[in-house]
Amino acid sequence: MAWKDEDEGKGVLMQLFPFGGRMDEISESELPFPHRSGNLCLVLYLVFWQEEGHEAAERNINWLRRLYSYMEPFVSKSPRAAYVNYRDLDIGVNNNDGYTSYKQASVWGEKYFKNNFNRLAHVKTKVDPLNFFRFETKTTPKPLVIVTPSEISQVQATIICSKRHGMQIRARSGGHDYEGLSYVSEVQFVIIDLINLSKIDVDADSRTAWVQAGATIGQLYYRISQKSKTLGFPAAVCATVGVGGQFSGGGYGFLMRKYGLAADNIIDAHIIDVNGRFLDREAMGEDLFWAIRGGGGASFGVIISWKIKLVPVPSTVTVFRVARTLEQNATKLVHKWHLVANKLDKNLTIRIDLQRVNSSTKQGGLTVQATFESMFLGTVDQLIPLVQKSFPELGLVKQDCTEVSWIQSVLYLGGFSITQSPDVLLNRTQSSVASFKGKSDYVTVPIPESGLEGLWPLFYEEEAQNAIMIFNPYGGRMDEIPESEIPFPHRAGNICKIQHIVYWLEEGDEVAQRHINWIRRLYSYMEPFVSKSPRAAYVNYRDLDIGVNNKNGYTSYKEASIWGVKYFKNNFNRLVHVKTKVDPLNFFRNEQSIPSLLPVGRK
Ligand SMILES: Cc1cc2nc3c(=O)[nH]c(=O)nc-3n(C[C@H](O)[C@H](O)[C@H](O)COP(=O)(O)OP(=O)(O)OC[C@H]3O[C@@H](n4cnc5c(N)ncnc54)[C@H](O)[C@@H]3O)c2cc1C
Repeated sequence: MAWKDEDEGKGVLMQLFPFGGRMDEISESELPFPHRSGNLCLVLYLVFWQEEGHEAAERNINWLRRLYSYMEPFVSKSPRAAYVNYRDLDIGVNNNDGYTSYKQASVWGEKYFKNNFNRLAHVKTKVDPLNFFRFETKTTPKPLVIVTPSEISQVQATIICSKRHGMQIRARSGGHDYEGLSYVSEVQFVIIDLINLSKIDVDADSRTAWVQAGATIGQLYYRISQKSKTLGFPAAVCATVGVGGQFSGGGYGFLMRKYGLAADNIIDAHIIDVNGRFLDREAMGEDLFWAIRGGGGASFGVIISWKIKLVPVPSTVTVFRVARTLEQNATKLVHKWHLVANKLDKNLTIRIDLQRVNSSTKQGGLTVQATFESMFLGTVDQLIPLVQKSFPELGLVKQDCTEVSWIQSVLYLGGFSITQSPDVLLNRTQSSVASFKGKSDYVTVPIPESGLEGLWPLFYEEEAQNAIMIFNPYGGRMDEIPESEIPFPHRAGNICKIQHIVYWLEEGDEVAQRHINWIRRLYSYMEPFVSKSPRAAYVNYRDLDIGVNNKNGYTSYKEASIWGVKYFKNNFNRLVHVKTKVDPLNFFRNEQSIPSLLPVGRK
């Protein structure tokens, strides 16, 4: 049919672009673009038409589809490959409801990216993992209503109305809760989604900003950078995390060793309490203001906005990422890092990501890779001598480092390219391909090499294909802030926090259970090497395994202490007293909310 003189075919182009040469030499997995050796050419099919109207469009598109169909026997198969820059929605699209499974997306994804689609999905999950489908199944309990207030009075009305009708509230800002507590509940519930309350006012002169709870941290960083190149804020690494949940649980990132947590830098807040009242710091009083800076907002009301203190950053900072496998001495390096990471200059943060990778030396084998990822508040020439003095074994050289602005460091550490426009930080699109389960630990004594060696075999198990352990160094400013200053208690004496995390792409309970069991085994293996009495945890890495409230609405102080003391240590006691004062009937509650001492709800 291709040579027949069909009307629709008048404005037609078939372009054959030869491959081979350098394209044959680059491996398929070097970049996501997979079409390398073995291809004679790339064929582009185009049809143009000048007539207006749906009917003409339809006729011409159908003609092109017939041409595409005719070509099938003569072109690549399984998959019938395509070039992503010649976008073609005919080869498959995502679902409209915001969630597309890995399997569904593979229909078009493997055509564009072949085997690289899998890695793209994993990178996507790491840098923008919202709507984890562990909580997106048909059986996941759904809210009666989702309210998206654009006025504060609508939050007040929703609280009063929910109370009157015996419904619980789940406040959701960025939706990143590890156990889905901002949007899943076993009881009748209403979601207040603060997405429309996301205004950010930065005042560079007074070095402060008001940020509404529904804003993401990426949006806040972006707005700060628009006003000043020498101001920043010490909060999360991942741009899509909401400030509502994050700041109320602590909030850390690469500025933590210099300036502490996001919650350490909050100077005022607006909250709607259980009676629907709008309160600022003065009206809420110092107890409640203390509690919502680290004690989790969901137990106390709905936070509308935070006033934060911005922090100075130099116009040039330096970033690097250096990866070492076990064959490149990773065990010794990770151990040595434990001896120095929390004692380094405050301006320097080096974190470690541990993951399994394919080994280039062992045939078909696997190894564990430690990636040392860093941000230094200064130039490369200031950085190199610091690392050479404290951590020479890392072998850091100037060529490993890049000097950037602070906002570019946010891009780099958040998984973007430093050449991208900071506008990408405004994107809060929720797109998910993976489920995950996370846990956390604190380390107070360096993990010995033998402890690390015992860990590696766990990474070779099937479920660990997409597992990661992230070691965040403490020390610096964190050592100076007293444990009781805000509810977040993990201060002096900690070498680092570890985040344990496992992802999986497949659907179904059996797969989920296997991966969850794997991470529970990892957690159990780590017990001798981490903090004890309590085995401390970070509330923003919510983990319902460490204990939950009773379903009947009443949980005693002693019962709740099982999980409460792990997150808050001695501050748990004060949190319970604040809760009893501001919400005695325990209206704001969830699986790990601070209990009231009043025995309401007891059956
Ligand atoms: C990919 C990823 C990366 C992360 N990176 C970091 C990081 O670098 N640093 C860090 O510290 N943490 C990080 N976290 C953890 C994150 O801080 C917590 O998950 C945090 O609770 C998320 O806040 P949110 O508003 O996005 O979540 P949500 O799910 O909306 O809320 C979390 C909790 O806070 C409550 N809440 C939310 N908004 C309000 C409000 N306005 N008023 C009262 N209660 C509210 C919710 O009800 C829920 O209990 C990360 C999480 C993910 C998934």
